[in-house]
Amino acid sequence: MPTKIAAGNWKMNGQQTDISELQLISKAADQLDCRTIICPPTTLLGNATKFCNEIFIGGQDCHPKPSGAYTGDISANMLADMGASYVIVGHSERRTYHGENSTIVKAKAEAAIAADLKPIICVGEKLQQRESGDAIEAVSLQIKGSIPTNSEIILAYEPIWAIGTGVIPSFKEICQMHDAIRALLTKNYGSSGQKISILYGGSVKPSNAAEIFSATNVNGALVGGASLKSADFIPIMRALAKS
Ligand code: PEP
Repeated sequence: MPTKIAAGNWKMNGQQTDISELQLISKAADQLDCRTIICPPTTLLGNATKFCNEIFIGGQDCHPKPSGAYTGDISANMLADMGASYVIVGHSERRTYHGENSTIVKAKAEAAIAADLKPIICVGEKLQQRESGDAIEAVSLQIKGSIPTNSEIILAYEPIWAIGTGVIPSFKEICQMHDAIRALLTKNYGSSGQKISILYGGSVKPSNAAEIFSATNVNGALVGGASLKSADFIPIMRALAKS
């Protein structure tokens, strides 16, 4: 069975005082039958790993190289050195604002695995691809280009048009996409592909979490806005643990 995962992506949000929110999330995670991962900004990694022992901590991106003259970047080794266990790669905001294609995303995922981090590889279609009926094909192409040969990964399906908009795909569309992703991962990795956690991401809230988690091949969520406050994120973690 894939591990149930509630993952939070804080993006470029959060100050040192917000560690108290993380501590509340960590305390709640202790009681629940699911794994909680928070990916805070790099500036909070140190205190997050120090003060939040019941959750796992991840980075939001890593460079494909272990070290070197890459001003402003951070390597997977450095994240591991800070106590991180996971790293998000290929988030649509990186693909869009930093021009990252699937070849780069795959290199980052490989760098993460080499540093003993588990990559959370993000894929998702644009609105016009959804509207033209090409969503599954677009996502399949991204997956084929972005996943490494090693199956120690987490896959996050995040339709770009659902991120931060409050709009989500229908339950049927979520099921169809996650079933297609499971079939592709199984074709690629064999029985190991059946154990990979497939997360849904895009406007997950306490009000829609239970329905989303009731889909067979949804094994958790990657949550942006609603992961910033414990009052929003803890009910999502609870809905996942109950699913
Ligand atoms: C995200 O950015 O990964 C995300 C899913 O954001 P939100 O939950 O705010 O839509």
